[in-house]
Amino acid sequence: MMEALCALAPFFCQLGYCLGRSRQKDHRMRHSSKTHLLPVCQIYIWKSSKLRISVPQLTISMDDTDSDKGLCTTYLAAVLIERIRPLAELVGLPRLVRLNPCARFKTRGNAAVAILLNTSRPDDVREIALQTLLELSDLSGENTNPGLVAANRATPAMHDFYRRALTEIVEIQDAVDLLEEEGIWYRGLKKGRGLIGALAAAGAVFPDHTYELVTYRRRDRWGSRRAMKEESVWAADAATYPHTWDSVDYAQRRIVFSPHSPDPVLFGIRGDDPGYIWKALRMIWSEEPERAVLYLTNQGTDSHLLPGPSTEIGEDQSFYLEVTVAGLPWEIEGGHVFVQMVYDGRPLSCAAFEPTKRFRDVVRALRPGDRVAVCGAVRGKTLNMEKLDVLDVASVTVKEAPCCPVCLRRMKSAGRGQGYRCRRCGTRAAALTRQIARALQPGLYEVPPSARRHLAKPLIRLDDPRAHPSR
Ligand code: ZN
Repeated sequence: MMEALCALAPFFCQLGYCLGRSRQKDHRMRHSSKTHLLPVCQIYIWKSSKLRISVPQLTISMDDTDSDKGLCTTYLAAVLIERIRPLAELVGLPRLVRLNPCARFKTRGNAAVAILLNTSRPDDVREIALQTLLELSDLSGENTNPGLVAANRATPAMHDFYRRALTEIVEIQDAVDLLEEEGIWYRGLKKGRGLIGALAAAGAVFPDHTYELVTYRRRDRWGSRRAMKEESVWAADAATYPHTWDSVDYAQRRIVFSPHSPDPVLFGIRGDDPGYIWKALRMIWSEEPERAVLYLTNQGTDSHLLPGPSTEIGEDQSFYLEVTVAGLPWEIEGGHVFVQMVYDGRPLSCAAFEPTKRFRDVVRALRPGDRVAVCGAVRGKTLNMEKLDVLDVASVTVKEAPCCPVCLRRMKSAGRGQGYRCRRCGTRAAALTRQIARALQPGLYEVPPSARRHLAKPLIRLDDPRAHPSR
């Protein structure tokens, strides 16, 4: 199946991964039935005559251009793709690169974008990229510090830098040092923190990948409520799951593939198979998007997790660790559930916060002695669980007073450490031990789509009968 997808990928690279600007004739959402549909017929054809995938000569990458108030690095990339189209041949799909979700100054999702291309006019492409960055970055944003990189190749040092930016907190100076060492063209605006993500995206390697098709709103609609037929989103999910995921959250009856912020994103469809993503897109009725881009991405691959057993547990890093439950779970105000674990002989506090909803029921059912593997980010010395693999449940027993074999009455305690005694005839006996049935079944559990991190691999992607996917 995956081979088939990989074979299909180049086809989608070349044909129809970028929707063009929609017609601007009507700025309101139209209510006649047909025109709600996205204009998928308006697909730009990049190089329909050639289905050649070559080594890219130039990778343009950028990060940290958006703010809480608006804009979006992927939108900038989408506009840039259109502008450089006359000068360059795209190589493969543009890449949406998620980095360490714990990065302190990240903008919303900590995503950078890299565009791989062949061009005979690299200077012009760089100039257009810089102009687009200046035009479409929210430079007023306090934490917006755009970075733009144009690399002629991806070296082993750049691949390393990508892996570091995915799993560690990297400093701006580290990025600048490597850019200088490798002689790579770059521009950083303000503090230039985006150079970290831009350089990491240029060096990104995806041992595993998924896709996201992101649609963008027309500028005149930015900041307004997104017009969408909710039933159509549910229907699209039903028709394409499990090849697409995280469009809706069933337990909460909520649509989760569309933001509520004033940025240009209309919605994003995630999945393993571009064919099913397009199918979902065609089923969704919404306001007309301005454009759409299909990205190749490291989302949903768990590539941010550092595996145990010998790992040092550092702050702001994400791990996969096999641990033993050391105490009963407890809950604090607000519905956050904590449980003490032991990892490699050391105590490790783990948490399932309120937004993880029913995932907390699994955590509440843990008992001392259970063997589990936990996945999640360590912040404030606590591992925030994203996924839980219950490997082995401990047997839990309770001690009970036995019945007197002579009088058939329940015995009473004869005092601390003295066992039990029948009050009537004086017969003595030890306590009875009774095993309690465990409600928790071994298997894999995960947080719901509404609480999922971009990088976390949804269990539906595993072909594992032990998995309990949260949809
Ligand atoms: Zn008795």
